[in-house]
Amino acid sequence: MKPDSAPQALLDVIDADAMLREVQEWAAINTGTANIAGLDTMAGILADAFSALPGEVELVEPATVTAISGEGREFEKPHGRHMVLRVRPEAERRFVLTGHMDTVFPGDHPFQEVSWLDDETINGPGTADMKGGLNVILHALKTFETIEGAQRVGYDVMINSDEETGSLASRGLIEELARGKYAALTYEPSALPDGTLAHARGGTGNYSITIHGRSAHAGRNPQDGRNAIVAASDLVLRIAALAGDDITVNPAKIEGGSANNVVPDLAVLRFNIRPKSTEAMNRFDGELDRALAAIKAEHEVGIHRHGGVTRPPKPVDAKAQRLFDLVKSCGAELGQKIGWQPTGGVCDGNNIAATGVPVVDTMGVRGGAIHSPDEFMIVPSLRERAALSARVLARLSTGDHL
Ligand SMILES: [Zn+2]
Repeated sequence: MKPDSAPQALLDVIDADAMLREVQEWAAINTGTANIAGLDTMAGILADAFSALPGEVELVEPATVTAISGEGREFEKPHGRHMVLRVRPEAERRFVLTGHMDTVFPGDHPFQEVSWLDDETINGPGTADMKGGLNVILHALKTFETIEGAQRVGYDVMINSDEETGSLASRGLIEELARGKYAALTYEPSALPDGTLAHARGGTGNYSITIHGRSAHAGRNPQDGRNAIVAASDLVLRIAALAGDDITVNPAKIEGGSANNVVPDLAVLRFNIRPKSTEAMNRFDGELDRALAAIKAEHEVGIHRHGGVTRPPKPVDAKAQRLFDLVKSCGAELGQKIGWQPTGGVCDGNNIAATGVPVVDTMGVRGGAIHSPDEFMIVPSLRERAALSARVLARLSTGDHL
């Protein structure tokens, strides 16, 4: 196909029936982030499907991830493998397309099946978020490869297994693949069912602070004890006071404690922050260190800090805005009206943007009610969004620098 043959012609190349069939098959496989067997099955199916494209498919082992138990012990959390496809790595201009194979629905969740809501809409786990989006990547690239000039550029596809829990086992891989790329596209579902894209995003961080005090008898020698619950409570008030217009702080849980007649020697405090800017993120980090040092000194307790910001805020800079404008213009060529709006949600687009690569991260299907048993996907959007991405890739391949 000639690069500038009518963009509408792209739609004719796309096999919408195959897309729907594949999405139904993929959504029927449970891939809750903790379901390693399900993720393994899915990774194999994706590796086969993406082998239809040129390049090399690889299943990449997850990075080691630890968490803190309620007893204050650090333990390792298992994760599934990630799929990576590398096409024409020698090309000068290269893109990265990313998605995730995991869903928020564990293997024992009642929501496991795909059903029809009406002629154009299916309901099913991960249909919109984002097995539909993974399928859009596949068919957008198949279509892109039929366009003359596609062979001048290269791209990587990365499909991780742990996005829904923060991409802790794939963060390094995402950053590695993003670095040096010309542009990135991520296939979260559109922000609204009408196809509206997510624009700027805030960031998020999760922390577990373990406080070790000293136990003593509550009546006999309380002065010899160092109360970990009191120290944790003091810390809660200090970090809550750090919330402001550009950052939220949510102390979520204190675990630990002991019997009523014992000065508690252990507390684990969990909290989440949502910084809206890099500056707010960095300011909080410094303030937290100061608060921890003060608690340590004033309460004479031991403190262990685990976690941090896993998704930095994603402002939209000039280069990223030009990518948004390009997507909008490609949409117009295809008769699709594309707008955008900021969102409080986070995704791998945050981590890609942090590497300085422009990204539009809601290139997936139109749908909604994600993370709930009402999750739905608008079926005609499969073909529509595959054509949109193919067109975007075609224009990114020939145009001037963003
Ligand atoms: Zn998602």
